Amino acid sequence: MHTTVNNKNDIVKLIDVTKCTACRGCQVACKQWKGLPGAKTKQTGTYQNPPDLSAQTLKLVRFSEGLKENGKPFWYFFSEQCRHCIEPPCVDTIAGYTPDGATKDNATGAVLFGPKSKEAPFEEVRTSCPYNIPRQDEKSKVLVKCNLCIDRITNNRVPSCVLSCPTEAMVFGERDAILDKAKKRVEFLKQTYPKAQALNADEVRVIYIVVDDPKKYHQYAVA
Ligand code: SF4
Ligand code: SF4
Ligand code: SF4
Repeated sequence: MHTTVNNKNDIVKLIDVTKCTACRGCQVACKQWKGLPGAKTKQTGTYQNPPDLSAQTLKLVRFSEGLKENGKPFWYFFSEQCRHCIEPPCVDTIAGYTPDGATKDNATGAVLFGPKSKEAPFEEVRTSCPYNIPRQDEKSKVLVKCNLCIDRITNNRVPSCVLSCPTEAMVFGERDAILDKAKKRVEFLKQTYPKAQALNADEVRVIYIVVDDPKKYHQYAVA
């Protein structure tokens, strides 16, 4: 659903993890569009690479594996990024130190960090985020995260990561249409996976469909 969006303040991105093949196209597309470099890493026993979000990796495909309650194995993929909260606690935290450090864009709802965010204490901002998303550029000290490709979506283009996704695990469009799509998909998935749900759909602009306890998708998350 790569649509042109008329009411840009009503946009959401849906990430259906059950359609994700962990190709990491989105991870690479994000780096390409943002001009961010790759990072030197080493194999630590997981395909999750690099190991975490960083100032150079704003989109990361998480890999998690283990056994379900019924003893059957799972191997989950989760294309991680900022959720663009409707009421973003990170913005409030940054504003407590520097009013111009972060904002929620009126036209799109995208949550944006600016250069002045370096004046806010990183750990406090990071822990104020329910999803452990903000990171800090080591050199400039500026806080960073996904900006929902605001330069693209304000020009009627979908986010770079969405465009790259070969399975349509990620779609982007108007809230009502996307929520309807999510509802139907969850109803379908529940027939096989009773725990299927769309996570916090009323609170965020980046909504994930999962089929298990959300914590299980973050096995190698750095706390
Ligand atoms: S997910 Fe975290 S960083 Fe993103 S808008 Fe919400 S609180 Fe802020
Ligand atoms: S929306 Fe843009 S900045 Fe955000 S993860 Fe996707 S490609 Fe990266
Ligand atoms: S591009 Fe799509 S299928 Fe590939 S890792 Fe990202 S979300 Fe998954």
